[in-house]
Amino acid sequence: MTENHLTLESLRALPLPMPDEGSKDQRGTVLVLGGSVEVPGAALLAGVAALRAGAGRLRIATVQSVAKSMALAVPEARVIGLAETEEGEIDPAQAEERVSALAERSEAVLVGPGLSAGKAADALCFSVLPGQPSTSFVLDAGALCGLAARSEAVLTCGGRAVITPHAGEMAQLLGIDRDAVEADPLAAALRAADLVGCVVIMKGAKTWIVSPAGERWLYDGGGVGLATSGSGDALSGILAGLLARGAEAMTAALWGVFLHGEAGRRLADRVGPVGFLAREIAGEVPAILHEAG
Ligand code: AMP
Ligand code: MG
Repeated sequence: MTENHLTLESLRALPLPMPDEGSKDQRGTVLVLGGSVEVPGAALLAGVAALRAGAGRLRIATVQSVAKSMALAVPEARVIGLAETEEGEIDPAQAEERVSALAERSEAVLVGPGLSAGKAADALCFSVLPGQPSTSFVLDAGALCGLAARSEAVLTCGGRAVITPHAGEMAQLLGIDRDAVEADPLAAALRAADLVGCVVIMKGAKTWIVSPAGERWLYDGGGVGLATSGSGDALSGILAGLLARGAEAMTAALWGVFLHGEAGRRLADRVGPVGFLAREIAGEVPAILHEAG
């Protein structure tokens, strides 16, 4: 299959759902499941980005001890405090039921920002998958590493999931060396899409977006300033927002990568090539969407 080059022109053939009227329910609810005592801000960055991408409603489920500050920092969100472990991570054993009930009432569920990779993150992830037939998923960061072992849960989501590994996360997911991923990121992305049965965004200076059917797109915009702490959290939030609005997984992935990259390019123009903050990325998105028409 030949590769496609991701540009605004190519995206015009894949319009995003945009209700002209109606309530916020029509642009969907995003649930962000993540954050920990040491990394509370990742869930915040992602949640705000989901709203900036046009989602109607935001819920953030995070560790209890952070919930109050999170609710004040993101007044637009409903924040749910979950039981936590001694290490300050969400405790899946106590949180599972609550989390799956929340996921059932959300159009898009993002799992992973601010979660440490490990058994607890895996358990949390699989307590929401495969969810309702109408729920879409974005799996990032801590939610990625255990996927290969339980790929059937993602496979049963059909086309409703997007995963967003960088090279290190992809290496862990596939059980291969990071060098091997970096030597041929497209091959790694295709292998992961086949294994897990979902859309894969293989992040890096160049980003590959591939579907389980083997469709492949390359995005090489954005700029080096996007290589900054929290940048991936902004991307995963944008994706969740687009999915909540009703975009198909591949459409959301292509638009999400473009919006994130274009936001980086605009920030670089204004601020300089490096040194802008991940928290500034999401604020660029509404104007880019508006101009894209
Ligand atoms: P993460 O590593 O999860 O924070 O994600 C970093 C984000 O920045 C991904 O979307 C990458 O594709 C993007 N990125 C990283 N380095 C570069 C670069 N040199 N040029 C453009 N985008 C980049
Ligand atoms: Mg990341």
